[in-house]
Amino acid sequence: MKIQIDDNEYWIGTHRTRDLVVYDSDAQDSMKSQEVLLYVVAQGQMLTFAKERVKEYLAPINAKCEATNAVNLYINFRRRYMSLRLRNRITHCYKCQNNLNSMRFPICLECEWIKCTCGACGCDYG
Ligand SMILES: [Zn+2]
Ligand SMILES: [Zn+2]
Repeated sequence: MKIQIDDNEYWIGTHRTRDLVVYDSDAQDSMKSQEVLLYVVAQGQMLTFAKERVKEYLAPINAKCEATNAVNLYINFRRRYMSLRLRNRITHCYKCQNNLNSMRFPICLECEWIKCTCGACGCDYG
């Protein structure tokens, strides 16, 4: 199902095993062309899927209130996520010393730290 909110169009469906997902074409800017980024409602985060296979997994949903709910959750998530990103922090990973910055690495919304490719964030620090 497609839903339009504030001039943006979102596609809401279900993923085979992962519940409701939201597709937002605006969120795909930084993605490689063979990957697609979907918001997985049950997990409260964006996950990457292989574009050529993701269509096999997705099924549209027909319940409008459920779809609207999912989009609203996604919009809240994105607003919070983007504001954390735009702080443009530069730091390094306490675990592996990798250089990190808030523009190019994912942010953990639990602890609001930049999440390293080794999986470390503030959640398991200390
Ligand atoms: Zn690391
Ligand atoms: Zn964390």
